[in-house]
Amino acid sequence: MIQDIAPHIYHNQFSTAAPQRQDAVLAFSDDGVLCRTAEGRLVLPAVEQLPPGRLWRLFSVDQRGFYLWEGSPPAAPESFSYRPTGKLRELTPDEQLFALGAGESLWRWYSANRFCGRCGGEMRHGATERSQVCPRCGLTVYPKICPGVIVAVHDGARLVLTRYRGRPFTRYALVAGFNEIGESIEDTVRREVMEEVGLAVDELVFYKSQPWVFTDTLLFGFFARLRGSDKITLQEDELSEAAWYARADIPHDHSAISLTGEMIEYFRAHGAPTEKVNIL
Ligand SMILES: [Zn+2]
Repeated sequence: MIQDIAPHIYHNQFSTAAPQRQDAVLAFSDDGVLCRTAEGRLVLPAVEQLPPGRLWRLFSVDQRGFYLWEGSPPAAPESFSYRPTGKLRELTPDEQLFALGAGESLWRWYSANRFCGRCGGEMRHGATERSQVCPRCGLTVYPKICPGVIVAVHDGARLVLTRYRGRPFTRYALVAGFNEIGESIEDTVRREVMEEVGLAVDELVFYKSQPWVFTDTLLFGFFARLRGSDKITLQEDELSEAAWYARADIPHDHSAISLTGEMIEYFRAHGAPTEKVNIL
């Protein structure tokens, strides 16, 4: 999955450490992120490759800091350009690509929280934690993370695969949806499966979670066993298709960096887990 960057380590403890020359810069414009590619991998500019600017520390990977460029985006140095981030997801997954996703999520959040939603005052960066603070009314807001579920609905031998309707992602997927306020994540699983494919499930087994940074989402992956009729009733405004697939017939057409993709491959290789998968 995209967050699996070992042996590299993502450190997201809050810090205001000053940037060093070799640290990476995430500079966004309407055209995308400032970067280049080398041998199918993402390369972000270093501090020393850009003119002096206002940089705000986001996190580090190993010892290298990643800083957000604030204010008007800088001119691209030679061999760099601004590229749409959606297309960059097809690059070889590595720590740079993960850092781009996490950094873009934080950039979206900072951009959307420059002004206070309660009084309209100009927000400032929190000094001791990852937050935006309104000096006028005291409102503090924290990064937005939306919990959601990925559900591998199975009957022991077969798995339900879906395709979304009206989205750029056209490969096979699993049942998926967002948690609602006041709802446990287990109830989200049951509700989304019933809404999207009209099936009842039980025997929920938690698999793994994934920070899906591209949409500010934290995904919880579950396997869930069919209970009762296997007749699929499609939620046609969300999905264009949904069907049962025996393990041997599961197509090789899903995302390689996603929890969804890993769960489909797990089912192909092993069937459904009967207890929580050891994630170490
Ligand atoms: Zn305010």
